[in-house]
Amino acid sequence: MHSMDSSSFNYATPRKRGNLIQAKVEASEITPHQVSIPFDAGGITPTCCNCAYDYDGWCKHIIATLLTCSRQLERIEERPTLEHLLNRPLAIF
Ligand SMILES: [Zn+2]
Repeated sequence: MHSMDSSSFNYATPRKRGNLIQAKVEASEITPHQVSIPFDAGGITPTCCNCAYDYDGWCKHIIATLLTCSRQLERIEERPTLEHLLNRPLAIF
């Protein structure tokens, strides 16, 4: 069994953009892993990470991101979606 010791990770702040949570997970590897977690009203949907994890289920970076999000939901930075930006009235002075 895998031991999921999330304390060995350093987290960048997960960012929420529309229906997507994006986070960089820094572990012992040199390159941070970029995790993308799309979700909708029904919950999270299949998730991707750029690591080489090829077992069934979610890799430890995804799990670490989900743990961070569930602990720090209020801290997830809201980012406007592109549609929101495009729909915003232009301020002309
Ligand atoms: Zn991963």
